[in-house]
Amino acid sequence: MPPPGELQATASDVGLRSWARTRRDARRWRERTIIVVALALYAGLLALAWQVAFKLLPDTLTWHVAGHALRLANIHDRIAGNALVMLFLLPAALWLECLFVGWRGSSLRHMFVVPSASIRTDIAFFLLSQAHFIDIAGKLMMLGASMISSFLIRDWLRASFGFEISAAGLPLPLQIALYFAIYSFFDYWTHRVDHTRYFWPLHRYHHAAQDFCVINANREHPAAIVSLFLINLPMATLGATPAVMIYVNVTVTALGFIIHSRINSDFGWFGRYVLQSPTHHRLHHKLDMSHPTGHFGMAPIWDHLFGTWYGDADQSLVIGVETPYRHGFWVGADLVRDYWDFWTGFFRRRAS
Ligand SMILES: [Zn+2]
Ligand SMILES: [Zn+2]
Repeated sequence: MPPPGELQATASDVGLRSWARTRRDARRWRERTIIVVALALYAGLLALAWQVAFKLLPDTLTWHVAGHALRLANIHDRIAGNALVMLFLLPAALWLECLFVGWRGSSLRHMFVVPSASIRTDIAFFLLSQAHFIDIAGKLMMLGASMISSFLIRDWLRASFGFEISAAGLPLPLQIALYFAIYSFFDYWTHRVDHTRYFWPLHRYHHAAQDFCVINANREHPAAIVSLFLINLPMATLGATPAVMIYVNVTVTALGFIIHSRINSDFGWFGRYVLQSPTHHRLHHKLDMSHPTGHFGMAPIWDHLFGTWYGDADQSLVIGVETPYRHGFWVGADLVRDYWDFWTGFFRRRAS
């Protein structure tokens, strides 16, 4: 039995610890409340600005050039799609993450206060893609293949074979849900193609990330355009209208931010069957290749159906690839090396 003095000290230690815990909890709740109120205020202001901007801006613009009428339609949807990502989805994903993991563990802090070399690449890549450099590089690297318009092909099919599939009669939210399901199916198979030895050097660029960070979702090699053919073409052929494609893309972008966040959650049954969770996506990014790679689908149902569902992980799992990467703000060297690896691998295998 400990002497009475020691007992007293232990009791006061316990008291001190629980007081500290209460203070910590209170601070955390204060932090969370500030984040939620700030996000709600920001969303309100944004919605207001949105309304005003759309009242001032027409949805269709027509120019008359040399006797031809040039029409730009769906302007509101186009702007909404692009501006939503930068002005709302990204801030919301960053704030949501802060809410779950706190400031210390957040992508925001890791981007602006203690960026690792891997996260510096993500920042450079995000800025370059927002400035459309990645898009232009992709067109150059793949000789303009990404400029093929899926809607032109759809029009050509309609003119040549006289058939057209359309879900335009359904309410918009139902169309978005339906086409998200279709999109995720094609995305699942595209992602599996990306992991084959032919396309891996290009997709490897995304997997090279050593830290998860919300904007890691943007790090895709510009020449990795398999998805263009395996997702966008079938989607347009199956009757997705340009507006629905924009909203499905917005949903996919938002999910991309969330699954690359540092939130340590598998989302329970929702993450098992409806939408992929950050920890399941982390398992997809694992460095250890002694077990097969799984969790390819942003809708996990496809992994269950096609046998690539493996189980659970947490944010402590080490991610990355064996191939050495330079990382950092200068992204050119790694990009060119991977592009070179793709073509040399492609021709070497074809010749053998
Ligand atoms: Zn992958
Ligand atoms: Zn990823």
